[in-house]
Amino acid sequence: MNKQDQPLIFELSREDRIGYSLPEMDIPEVELSDLIPNEYLREEEPELPEVSELDIMRHYTALSKRNHGVDSGFYPLGSCTMKYNPKVNENVARLNGFAHIHPLQHTDGVQGSLELMYDLQEHLREITGMDEVTLQPAAGAHGEWTGLMMIRAYHEKNGDTKRTKVIVPDSAHGTNPASATVAGFETITVKSDENGLVDLEDLKRVVGEDTAALMLTNPNTLGLFEENILEMAEIIHSAGGKLYYDGANLNAVLSKARPGDMGFDVVHLNLHKTFTGPHGGGGPGSGPVGVTEDLIPFLPKPLLVKNGDKFEWDYNRPESIGRVKPYYGNFGINVRAYTYIRTMGPDGLKAVTENAVLNANYMMRRLAPYFELPYDRHCKHEFVISGKRQKKLGVRTLDIAKRLLDFGYHPPTIYFPLNVEEGMMIEPTETESKETLDSFIDAMIQIAGEVENSPEIVQEAPHTTVLKRLDETTAARKPILRYKKEAVATH
Ligand SMILES: *Cc1c(COP(=O)(O)O)cnc(C)c1O
Repeated sequence: MNKQDQPLIFELSREDRIGYSLPEMDIPEVELSDLIPNEYLREEEPELPEVSELDIMRHYTALSKRNHGVDSGFYPLGSCTMKYNPKVNENVARLNGFAHIHPLQHTDGVQGSLELMYDLQEHLREITGMDEVTLQPAAGAHGEWTGLMMIRAYHEKNGDTKRTKVIVPDSAHGTNPASATVAGFETITVKSDENGLVDLEDLKRVVGEDTAALMLTNPNTLGLFEENILEMAEIIHSAGGKLYYDGANLNAVLSKARPGDMGFDVVHLNLHKTFTGPHGGGGPGSGPVGVTEDLIPFLPKPLLVKNGDKFEWDYNRPESIGRVKPYYGNFGINVRAYTYIRTMGPDGLKAVTENAVLNANYMMRRLAPYFELPYDRHCKHEFVISGKRQKKLGVRTLDIAKRLLDFGYHPPTIYFPLNVEEGMMIEPTETESKETLDSFIDAMIQIAGEVENSPEIVQEAPHTTVLKRLDETTAARKPILRYKKEAVATH
């Protein structure tokens, strides 16, 4: 059999082959229909694959080898901060006292876990310069929504119900306008200027008595630090609006600049990016939100408080927006982030930013002769180049991304941000060595050469992967997610 054609587990199935042995049943057998009302019962038994333990082990091991992860290769996916996740985090998160507690256990029995959460909140307060932090939100976008709901509650409490608009720059992360909409606001877009920064004149034009907040992604999705942040804060605050800082990419400013010091009222962080929670493939995240004093009453409840030596949940918070996530949030990710912060220490966290920014600038400058650089300025943790020049030769950014697969790299984020034509958003992160950066740069330079000399190599890539070009539209619009014999037959 061709190794490339890994059959489906259902196709490996042979009648009566089993992969387990259970002890003989020593309790009376019960009919399912005695336990579950008939309308909930399946009419037919599900068709489950019948395979041996070895079959199943080989099958999933083979599939797992097709994955690309940070542990297997370079992963410069812009805005996602695919840095290495230290394994000591995993050891700590697997300790019995953290991994095997129950969320409904009495607080007396989980004081250590609550203390870890409390300490993590303290560290994040210090890192962001905010007055209080909640660990409840499950991811970045969830943190955005939580923060906006607090801003909404704040304005409503002040009888300021006309404030229905949230201003979002066109260089913001895509989740920002989405969160504003889900939180019941109308989104107003402000343009970027020729430097790739928020256009202050445009901002002044749209701000007004109906402004609830400005949401700022900083560094913005071009990887540029918003230099006029204090002026922007002044414009929004003097109009009575609140300032929201999308801190998902805090890797760029960690231990160097704090949203609280810049005048922001709310900030969310992505622990699964900056603070080495493993992510990708939709795994659990954690998007803590920090707020200033006047938003504290609206924080999700319960709030973790310290009473003398004891950690407790405070439910008595009448103005709270309520719960946004059951139990302790994604506790395991919080344990990993705490471990990371404690093992790095303040100097280590500062070095993270310095190296992340250095790596990105090094790579940007070395690629600049070969690709178009739409904003020729120092970047922070990531940068955006354009494949415009290559497009003129008939090769699109998508082709370049596919060609990178042949070199064993995960491609950068492509066609984002929207304000760059044929954009490639590259975030090397601080954990990569100069050798790795150079190898990737060499691959990019080789591809740029191929585009000029033999473009079909790039247009027809990838050549070395298990599957070649997929029909991405059909895969997105009509995915086949369940096994059906007929579906496989035509497959
Ligand atoms: C990743 C990211 C988000 C969204 O975070 P999720 O955890 O994926 O919901 C928001 N803003 C920015 C700038 C990001 O990079």
